[in-house]
Amino acid sequence: MRIFVFGGDGFCGWPTALHLSKSGHDVTIVDNLSRREIDAKLGLQSLTPITELQERIAAWRELTGRIIHFEHLDIAREAPRLDTLVANGKPDAVVHFAEQRAAPYSMRGPDEKRYTVDNNISGTHNLLVALTQHSPDTHLVHLGTMGVYGYSGNGFSIPEGYLDVAVTDDHGQPQSREILFPTKPGSVYHMTKSLDQLLFQFYAQNDALKITDLHQGIVWGTQTKETKLDPRLINRFDYDGEYGTVLNRFLVEAAIGHPLTVHGTGGQTRAFIHIRDTVRCIELAVGSPPQRGEKVKILNQVAETLTIIDLARLVSDRTGAEIAHVPNPRAEAAENELVVSNETFLALGLDPTLLDSALLEGTIALSKRHSDRVDLSMIPARSAWNRERQKQIFENPQAAAA
Ligand code: NAD
Repeated sequence: MRIFVFGGDGFCGWPTALHLSKSGHDVTIVDNLSRREIDAKLGLQSLTPITELQERIAAWRELTGRIIHFEHLDIAREAPRLDTLVANGKPDAVVHFAEQRAAPYSMRGPDEKRYTVDNNISGTHNLLVALTQHSPDTHLVHLGTMGVYGYSGNGFSIPEGYLDVAVTDDHGQPQSREILFPTKPGSVYHMTKSLDQLLFQFYAQNDALKITDLHQGIVWGTQTKETKLDPRLINRFDYDGEYGTVLNRFLVEAAIGHPLTVHGTGGQTRAFIHIRDTVRCIELAVGSPPQRGEKVKILNQVAETLTIIDLARLVSDRTGAEIAHVPNPRAEAAENELVVSNETFLALGLDPTLLDSALLEGTIALSKRHSDRVDLSMIPARSAWNRERQKQIFENPQAAAA
């Protein structure tokens, strides 16, 4: 298949591009390298020493003989170039990772809120328009997030995208409807993913686009079979307060002898998936498109759920790291339940990697190997969710900690 990987220089996109290339697909990465620019702007760097994209691609060709093409293009701001790319390439599938993906960064301030909405919504919509106009048979696989559903317990498993509801009509008769499972986004970033869902629903219904939306859990780990082949292929590993996802941050903290920083009580439950399973799920999703005219296929891309405090204990048991509770910058319930159905991927053959697997030890070892690159000052969270949290945490930290 000819596959375009939008956002293919990122944490999930790079290993996915390699995996699809290894499986024999003709892969083109489309990326504006904005993630690397944000690193430079914030003074951050990946824990792992990632090479420039051109060097990564050249190394892959040298090692495997396989060519990955690259288009440096901003899908939010260069719609005419995107149209031309899609019209000329007519890909069988596109995988869309190209969004600003950190909830804390999206809550950092007015500029970051506007950037996240402008970038994510315009990028997704430009892509949908390009496909509608120039390649309506292409299958669009988008990376959404479990976080769109918020983190308040329902008392039942979160289904895969849709909810059957019973209503009474104006004549007192019972009616049933299938609706998108209601979202309750907890950050500007999550809100953009909720809005993406409506864009997909419209274009599937109006233009019969073939769309799969993967509601992914928090990704942990960093290496896949392909990125391990050579140091020049190493994947990005974010550990800082803005982009570092919780488990990877804990693993780096443990590697440098820093206490594991649990926000609030740690009673928040989250969904997790290993990067190795991310690339496998995307391959499975690409191979299983909906037909034209079908509703958007929504799959929960999740291996398991766990509370943050249980996650911290898991890392602490293996490393001896202490656990420190720090004020939570997010406006969210202190504790919640989260039960998620992932039946479609299990039926498609996914054998999920669980947190107690040997891969956790591997990620701890990798964190130790690169611990000289850690900048301690980058670990604490800097973005508060609203004025009240800002005052409590950053302007009166003693009171917040009490
Ligand atoms: P990332 O920031 O590492 O990668 C995103 C890539 O997209 C970057 O290379 C960036 O330069 C590129 N990009 C952003 N805006 C672009 C634009 N306008 N035009 C072209 N390229 C653009 O993020 P990631 O962790 O790889 O996440 C990828 C996707 O998966 C995101 O949409 C994210 O919401 C979703 N996701 C990630 C996680 C996770 O834990 N990392 C969890 C759930 C969902």
